[in-house]
Amino acid sequence: MVSCPKCDGEAHRSHTRGLLEQFAKIASTYRAYRCLDCGWRGLLGAEKTPSKTTTRRKLTIIIALIITTALVFALMGLIDYTIDSAKNPRKKQKSAQSN
Ligand SMILES: [Zn+2]
Repeated sequence: MVSCPKCDGEAHRSHTRGLLEQFAKIASTYRAYRCLDCGWRGLLGAEKTPSKTTTRRKLTIIIALIITTALVFALMGLIDYTIDSAKNPRKKQKSAQSN
């Protein structure tokens, strides 16, 4: 059982709401709690040490982030290349002059 940081009453696990709490649930040991006495609601760190599954989840998120970043950079490079070839049609002109 967890005690409320506001009134030191009984805080129970609450359903996760929103992206921040969802992310906190996946990426950290923090969980949403609600106080039965004063109605306080917020994130509190879990008493347990992170399990192997939590570590694996973290690793999966990190790998997903790296892949996403790499994809974004690859897309940016592709867009740059497309813009460059649209702005500088020199290659076409040169080939036209030689012919
Ligand atoms: Zn409370």
